[in-house]
Amino acid sequence: MNYADMLLLRFGEFMLKGKNRSRFEKTVLRHVKEIVKPYPNVELTKEFGRIYVQLNGEPAVELVEGLKNVFGIASISPVKVSPSELEGILSVSRHFLNIIAPVPGTTFKVKARRVWKGFPHGSLEMNNLVATPLLQGYPGLIVDVKSPQLEMKVEIRKEHTYIFCENIAGIGGFPLGTNGKAMLLLSGGIDSPVAGWSSMRRGLEVECVHFYSFPYTSELARQKVVDLTRVLSRYAGGIKLHLVPFTEVQTAFTGIGQDNLIITLMRRAMLRIATQLAEREGALAIVTGDSLGQVASQTLPSLNVIGRATVLPLLRPLVMMDKNDIIELSKKIGTYDLSILPYEDCCTLFVPKSPTTNPNLRIVDKIEATLPGYSELLAAAVQATETVRITPYGNELPKDVVNVQAGLQEEWF
Ligand code: ATP
Ligand code: MG
Repeated sequence: MNYADMLLLRFGEFMLKGKNRSRFEKTVLRHVKEIVKPYPNVELTKEFGRIYVQLNGEPAVELVEGLKNVFGIASISPVKVSPSELEGILSVSRHFLNIIAPVPGTTFKVKARRVWKGFPHGSLEMNNLVATPLLQGYPGLIVDVKSPQLEMKVEIRKEHTYIFCENIAGIGGFPLGTNGKAMLLLSGGIDSPVAGWSSMRRGLEVECVHFYSFPYTSELARQKVVDLTRVLSRYAGGIKLHLVPFTEVQTAFTGIGQDNLIITLMRRAMLRIATQLAEREGALAIVTGDSLGQVASQTLPSLNVIGRATVLPLLRPLVMMDKNDIIELSKKIGTYDLSILPYEDCCTLFVPKSPTTNPNLRIVDKIEATLPGYSELLAAAVQATETVRITPYGNELPKDVVNVQAGLQEEWF
């Protein structure tokens, strides 16, 4: 692919949405600008339904890898650019075919499109004018106009003619943030980062909320979530991470003699706190990594009782997915290796021997209503929440870690 002079990026399904189109296209362009920033020679131009990335010597393969992850891009073609006159088109397409070097027996077709009507030869005529000399030079090629293995597209425009064969699939979806904002409950597990990525792909901006329980959970467990957020931020440019101290809320539930309901109560507390943060941040939904039936807290009766703790829409992108498919996705998006690190989550510590799979809403409501100072406890957790903005290539850390590191350095010198 390093033969290319230019990459042609095509927008995805959101093109259908008439009046939002221009806003969506601008969002994709902004995201593309982020990706090409480390390549100073790249030039971008936007046109109806596409973006052109002039490479000017920058590496096509690397750029395609990055651009494939931009939400809203349906496909990418590495393009060879020729002047818009017959001799030039013939010589560039011959050169192009030499680079591709198709094996004998490859089925082949040229598909020309005359966009610039001032060009003297029509599309059908150009198919023949280009294909005939190429076939003479490559006697091993077999013409197949229905479903060829190699289709050379020749797009004739006024300024230039674009010649390309490859159509590399992009990630598709909606441009980031064009469908609003949601709070993602991010644990250190496999599921919730995948749920976050799936939401982002659907055009949601996400802010992450993580609950930790010092000293029951370690600094490493929290760091893992910072690292996971950083991986997710590659798809967003930057993500806010809210770190909620959860120890006091959690310990309030122990000792009430209803151990089998502890997970239900903790999940509801998480949702209540996340709802308050959502209101503060202007988010309109909460995303979780729940998948139906995976564990006791994800049976339908549990999801029902837990879900009632928030008035916001609860989005569960993985709810109908099999674990294997979720794992595949987590490998693809780059979160898997972090997720399987063996640090404890705040919930696993308090897991009773037999968590209920069928909690009783009336009882849960009553426990919460009679727990002394419960809403103050939740408000205090919201109050003590620390927010860190995480960027793809930065090394932002929670304040207490930064302070500890600074302290260590002072001692050292
Ligand atoms: P995951 O792999 O995402 O941890 P899981 O299959 O382990 O999910 P649970 O541990 O039951 O399932 O958690 C269900 C969901 O609750 C998670 O996907 C996540 O959205 C949320 N959650 C759990 N623990 C936390 C936490 N400590 N902080 C924030 N959200 C959490
Ligand atoms: Mg988990």
